[in-house]
Amino acid sequence: MDDDRQAAFDRAAKAASAFRSAAGDRLMRPAATYAQMLAAARQATPTTGCGADETIRSLVELAEPGLHAMIGPRFFGWVIGCSHPVGVAADWLTSAWGQNCGNHQAAPAGAAIETVAANWLLDLLALPPTASVGFVTGATVANFVCLAAARGELLRRAGWDVEADGLFGAPAIRVLIGEDAHTTVFAALQMLGLGHRRLTRIATDAQGRVLPAAFEAALGKGDGPTIVILQAGQINTGAFDPFEQLLAKGRAGNVWVHVDGAFGLWARACPETAGLAAGLERANSWATDGHKWLQTPYDCGYAIVRDEAAHRRAMTAAASYLPATAGDERDPSHYVPELSRRARGFATWAMIRHLGRAGIADLVARHCRLARRMADSLRAEAGVEVVNDVVLNQIIVRFGDDEATRAVIARVQEGGVCFVGGAAWRDRWVMRISVISGDLTQADADRSVEAILQAWREVRARPKPPAP
Ligand SMILES: *Cc1c(COP(=O)(O)O)cnc(C)c1O
Repeated sequence: MDDDRQAAFDRAAKAASAFRSAAGDRLMRPAATYAQMLAAARQATPTTGCGADETIRSLVELAEPGLHAMIGPRFFGWVIGCSHPVGVAADWLTSAWGQNCGNHQAAPAGAAIETVAANWLLDLLALPPTASVGFVTGATVANFVCLAAARGELLRRAGWDVEADGLFGAPAIRVLIGEDAHTTVFAALQMLGLGHRRLTRIATDAQGRVLPAAFEAALGKGDGPTIVILQAGQINTGAFDPFEQLLAKGRAGNVWVHVDGAFGLWARACPETAGLAAGLERANSWATDGHKWLQTPYDCGYAIVRDEAAHRRAMTAAASYLPATAGDERDPSHYVPELSRRARGFATWAMIRHLGRAGIADLVARHCRLARRMADSLRAEAGVEVVNDVVLNQIIVRFGDDEATRAVIARVQEGGVCFVGGAAWRDRWVMRISVISGDLTQADADRSVEAILQAWREVRARPKPPAP
């Protein structure tokens, strides 16, 4: 490698370290808006090239104002892990090694290490050790892959080969789903030709959990091939469907139960929270993320399927120039939509190796403990309502009415001490606080609560507009 390219590598590493080491001191919001970033970045298509080091230098300079402190300790937006430095370092190597991780012959290290990471995941999440795992971009695609396997297998049992013959003319599949399922599951159904409207939505309780009586009633209404979609960790409340109750009875062969556990599945990796997710091991497939609670960098999710053959039938593309698996080799591409892709197993392997079972359990326990602490401090203030049962890491909070709640969120974001988002829950606007990012300490949690309460006190003290 020539000096200029070496300098580009070194500069990237230095800029990355500098960004990371200042993460705790940064404003927890981007300094520049999208419009400002676009104005700064917009240029005609370059005609001539630019040196390697100079290119990286100008990228760093250009991007920095528009970077959001998603890796920061007081970032509570959406449900976002911190892209842990160890995962990032493994990810740098993943890029530098440049392995096309489609098959085991082309990329023996990538494929073998992914196989081991898959086994570790199943062990940590206490799922069947013979289940298959596809390393995908996130829970959206994990839901898609799992539901593709469900679709194919249910139709195969009904005498229809959907992989070969498609959906036109196929027996109908019923899809049952909780009212408070994540929007990406509906997207997966839409991409699979199952539609996001032709569903039976099952009523849920105040926390967003599927009601067992409504579930039994919906299931009892038909006996054809049926996909049931349940949830571990509701995006706003953190609630779990009552799996023990719902899945205690064996289900007929033509029912496939899928669990979306993008972050909630990780409750199973922590003795203190595992009870919340007990019973879901009886399902047929599970979607979860690496880039949320496991803190891998983006993008990383896992599609886990009990029936490996169904998983492979749904995803495998065969071609003469691709090697056949003779023995028990595992080809990563057999479990995901893509053929060519990065070796995602390296970052997963590194995070699990770094934290270990104990470190992962501690991380989940710490986040849940700090979530309860933050909720307790918030609800102690006059006019603040913690809307959900804080069973996991999610807190939704209401400040007076919709308008005041929006105003508090805007002030907190503007202040930049911490970042929180907003959402509609049961037709009311709430602040969402998601406690999931890496290094959050108790001091960070307390400082964040103080910033939120300060914003609320300012909003509360505003003169009320006269009634219309
Ligand atoms: C985040 C999330 C998803 C989508 O996951 P991505 O990683 O963003 O693709 C799906 N379901 C739930 C419950 C989630 O929290």
